[in-house]
Amino acid sequence: MIGVRSVAILSMCSGLALIVPAFSAQGGTLSITVSTSAPAVGDPFVVEVAAQGTVDNLVLLWKRSTWPMREIAPGRFEGLIGVDIDDPPGPATVVAEGFLDGTRVRAKEDVTISPRKFAVQELTLPKGMSEFDNATLDRIRAEAAEISRVLSRVTPPRWRTPFLPPVEEYRPANFGARRVINGNPRMPHSAVDITLPAGTPVRSIGDGLVAFANEQFFGGRSVVIDHGGGVFSIYYHLKEFSVSEGQEIFRGDRIGSVGSTGRATGPHLHFGVRVPGGRVDPTRLFALPGG
Ligand SMILES: [Zn+2]
Repeated sequence: MIGVRSVAILSMCSGLALIVPAFSAQGGTLSITVSTSAPAVGDPFVVEVAAQGTVDNLVLLWKRSTWPMREIAPGRFEGLIGVDIDDPPGPATVVAEGFLDGTRVRAKEDVTISPRKFAVQELTLPKGMSEFDNATLDRIRAEAAEISRVLSRVTPPRWRTPFLPPVEEYRPANFGARRVINGNPRMPHSAVDITLPAGTPVRSIGDGLVAFANEQFFGGRSVVIDHGGGVFSIYYHLKEFSVSEGQEIFRGDRIGSVGSTGRATGPHLHFGVRVPGGRVDPTRLFALPGG
């Protein structure tokens, strides 16, 4: 469902924000459209802003952070945001903010986040795979901190729809599974697992820069691609990878192959996606409009 709403323009006057009609003195208007007004928990969605007039410093506000938008045509801007797998259902608001013909403007669209049920998965792992000595725990913490640092970068948007599934035979499983390992509840599984023979080619889902290419304790041989604007794709347990950090990459480029490195019980691709707003279901990314 597409929702369009015209906007009020806020003009700053002696430090007070005044709401004035949706037309600026020069006749410009701003409108905001979302690809769904009822995203589920774990859904990414596209926000489009159209402006009649000269727009500067346009950003999206979502979950108390600001995110850059990409100009897709003169006066048309696109952003990708999402509902994290741990976000509560209920009402939320997407805001676009910037300057139109020199006047500060704000456009908003309300959405209602719907609940989604996730499986509970009880796993039994050998002690060597679930209990760790202090040196290993230090390594795990340092690696988690480095991945968070990588995922917190915001570079100019390079992503575009459609995204390409990372493997030819895309059969996702386990997204959002609430895992209980040897009786202990763990973080929800924020990616999909795709079981495929070792050596199956893995490709980038979109244009971007390689933000991380290294070996991790849990992820094994791991690659993270920065698609810009806070959008990342994550590929773990690779048999090998053929890219290096900082390298420019294009949609469909081979980055490595399926393996079982790190903590994996067999060959599979662990594939995750981050967008502004959090950890979303990668499968829903391939269903976004605009492709
Ligand atoms: Zn996984």
